Amino acid sequence: MSTSKCVNTSKRLDKIPPYLFAEIDKKIDEAKAEGIDVISLGIGDPDTPTLPHIVQEMHKAIDDVSTHNYPPYQGTKAFRTACANWMKKRFNTDLDPNKEVLALIGSKEGIAHAFFAFVDEGDYTLVPDPGYPVYTNATYLAGGTPYFMNVGPDNNYMPDLDKIPEDVAKKAKLMFLNYPNNPTGAVANLEYFKKVLEFAKKYDVIICHDQAYCEMTYDGYIAPSFLEVEGAKDYCLEFFSHSKTYNMTGWRAGWVAGGEKLIKALGIIKNNIDSGIFKAVQQAAIVALETPQEEIDKLNAMYKARRDVVVNALREMGWQIEDPKATFYIWLPVPKGYTSAEFAALMLEKAHIVVPPGNGYGPNGEGFFRIALTVGEERLKEAMQRMKDAGIKFN
Ligand SMILES: *Cc1c(COP(=O)(O)O)cnc(C)c1O
Repeated sequence: MSTSKCVNTSKRLDKIPPYLFAEIDKKIDEAKAEGIDVISLGIGDPDTPTLPHIVQEMHKAIDDVSTHNYPPYQGTKAFRTACANWMKKRFNTDLDPNKEVLALIGSKEGIAHAFFAFVDEGDYTLVPDPGYPVYTNATYLAGGTPYFMNVGPDNNYMPDLDKIPEDVAKKAKLMFLNYPNNPTGAVANLEYFKKVLEFAKKYDVIICHDQAYCEMTYDGYIAPSFLEVEGAKDYCLEFFSHSKTYNMTGWRAGWVAGGEKLIKALGIIKNNIDSGIFKAVQQAAIVALETPQEEIDKLNAMYKARRDVVVNALREMGWQIEDPKATFYIWLPVPKGYTSAEFAALMLEKAHIVVPPGNGYGPNGEGFFRIALTVGEERLKEAMQRMKDAGIKFN
């Protein structure tokens, strides 16, 4: 046993599973060292740059020296007002920018900190399985216990609330939902959100809705907001991200909207941990929220064209799939006889393609894999051809 203090990490760290891509990363490095041209369909990070009008505003903002000192903790008034105005225009929801909106250093920051604001030792959280890994891991970090709500083809990718055991529901402090969904590309409707709100009222559970992909939609589909449901505000925190919508993953900008008491609690955690978003970034993020719809439509048209390339090729290879209506992800079953990890390894070995195994998103993701449409159309065509050439098919 080592006597060095610096390896005595906290018990809470023991609960965090190894990084999803750790094993794959090793294999990618080996393949690259052999000179193999690997196509990564792994990462949920837009491959095209931040929209130019946002970059231009950033140049102006950074030359303004008044942006250089500490920002207000909760976000600048101008930023919070822009967020509230955006919610009004997009969802017709009324939010007080002074009390019901909080700036986040990217939505992931606020999502993780929400667990520290509401979850104690012994509390349950209700998390979708498969789902964005932060919901589960932040539960552990906060000392809580996640209850995995299965999402899959059987329930149309919307957790079956009746299946949550009564004693778990009673001890649950918050539920996370994420529509449009990562990793499945699934969408939910307002009818479902209404049922969730009834559940929240019955068991006094906070609903955290992650809408990182609410603007990335296709075929005329428009995603609803949880806050559109009448009376939702007091029970809901809704997280918005600039990252995927405006190609701003590196900028770290997002925000959360919801009931005053909930926003206040999250704010107390944040006040003691971070000091807000760079004011210049907030100024650029305001301009981002004012992006003309045509610009968003252009990005969505690009992703839709990529989606069509992939789903059409996959159908030729035997997969029976519907066109995902939103997100840049496609969630697929692995062929019979393979685990998720084995299939991911096969894809890398035989087709030199990287895909994350579904079980990296939760135990119920076993038997699936994810494709991210974050490389260009030509490269996607090549990837599909490589799969065909390798004889990979769904049986
Ligand atoms: C990308 C992503 C986020 C994180 O977005 P940031 O605002 O960049 O922190 C949150 N939730 C889901 C489901 C995501 O896929």
